[in-house]
Amino acid sequence: MTSKDDTIARRLAEMPPKYRGIYKRAMTGKSRKAALRAFCLECCGWQRVEVARCTAPACPLFPYRRAAGAADVPVTGSLAASGERSPGDT
Ligand code: SF4
Repeated sequence: MTSKDDTIARRLAEMPPKYRGIYKRAMTGKSRKAALRAFCLECCGWQRVEVARCTAPACPLFPYRRAAGAADVPVTGSLAASGERSPGDT
């Protein structure tokens, strides 16, 4: 197992089992929505209700929180509409 794999395995072991799937989806690099959701969940100690109660409107992820209705908004569409590019865009 590589150092990266070890790090990911440790992180997975530390989170509630019900959120491991979304983290794994995020780590494939193919789902920005999963990455945003996993990041906010981890930020809030894996407490979904705390993401909804987030009090950090200056956080760049704030408008994309699931509680803000971001689950219905394609992330790439949001970035495309603003004219910005994300690191994964080619
Ligand atoms: S929007 Fe809130 S919950 Fe999400 S990463 Fe930022 S501070 Fe954390």
